[in-house]
Amino acid sequence: MSSLTPRPGILDIAPYKPGESKVEGVSKVIKLSSNEGALGASPRAREAYRAASEFLHRYPDGGATRLRAAIAARHGMTADNIVCGCGSDELIGLLCRAYAGPGDEVLYSAHGFLMYSIYTLSVGATPVKAPEVDLTASVDNLLAAVTEKTRIVFVANPNNPTGTYLSAAEVKRLREGLRDDILLVVDAAYAEYVTRNDYTDGRDLVDAHDNVVMTRTFSKIHGLGGARLGWCYAPDQVVDILNRLRSPFNVTSPALAAGEAAIEDVAFTDLSRQHNDVWLPWMQQKMHDMGLDTTDSVGNFALVKVPDADACDSFLRSRGLIVRRMGGYGLPDWLRITVGLDEENHAVIDALAAFLDERRAR
Ligand SMILES: *Cc1c(COP(=O)(O)O)cnc(C)c1O
Repeated sequence: MSSLTPRPGILDIAPYKPGESKVEGVSKVIKLSSNEGALGASPRAREAYRAASEFLHRYPDGGATRLRAAIAARHGMTADNIVCGCGSDELIGLLCRAYAGPGDEVLYSAHGFLMYSIYTLSVGATPVKAPEVDLTASVDNLLAAVTEKTRIVFVANPNNPTGTYLSAAEVKRLREGLRDDILLVVDAAYAEYVTRNDYTDGRDLVDAHDNVVMTRTFSKIHGLGGARLGWCYAPDQVVDILNRLRSPFNVTSPALAAGEAAIEDVAFTDLSRQHNDVWLPWMQQKMHDMGLDTTDSVGNFALVKVPDADACDSFLRSRGLIVRRMGGYGLPDWLRITVGLDEENHAVIDALAAFLDERRAR
């Protein structure tokens, strides 16, 4: 027996299972399991990544100066209020480390993004889940679950894996109902995909309060998941804390270069959104036509309820289609399917139809 003992909470963490990318015996797979942008990365971002290889012997700019300036220019923010991270996951983790610890509670909604519980446990704090209504976060239930121990509230807006969102008015009501010493983190990983006119990514709340942070990622619409790059927009005092905690060179130089090119390639981002605007409704309509229930997702993925999710997943896999099982999110009857390229979307819809036909024939 080893005498090493990790700190309390760490052994309670169920290791995160990433979306798979291989199926035994199938040479060509279609991966729709991780919400990666269907069109991949902008050609300009890929070129910038390659060009950065010239300088791999140099440490990156630890202050991410150019990237923060590019993000600030694109979004009309001050660069001083932006912190970049090795994926937004890193920033979520740093916020937990900064503001929660043993005896504290971190609150999020029942089917909220899994990393919230992982990072909460990693700092010895206690995860608390508020029930959802119709697979949508409920401000009333979140507020009712606040205790004197609550330190952070995470809301993914829109949420992964449900794809549902809270209106700007609802997120504002949530902030107004929380004590000032509770940090509200609005995780807007899918913000670029949302076209509803009552939506906000949360930046207005960051501007208006000193206890709200908005996180964003380059992994979804910008198609840079492999580069690991995220950022947050935060009030001065939180920026100061994050800059003390983060490792000095937390973002690599190729990621910085690719991110800068990606954020400036507005035409490519627009193209990616337009692709999603066509294919997400198409996919959801096809699912409804088959009699399947979906959430009203506004992300780049559908959450669909299928009869016998295990069998359905195996059937899809046998055709080389990898989607995401949802047991880890407490949704064992549902599958999350990322919007892909035209032929990929057709393939997954055809396979779902074939699965249902086969079941009916039995
Ligand atoms: C994908 C995702 C992230 C994190 O992505 P990174 O790759 O770490 O930037 C954060 N929040 C939600 C809700 C996500 O779906």
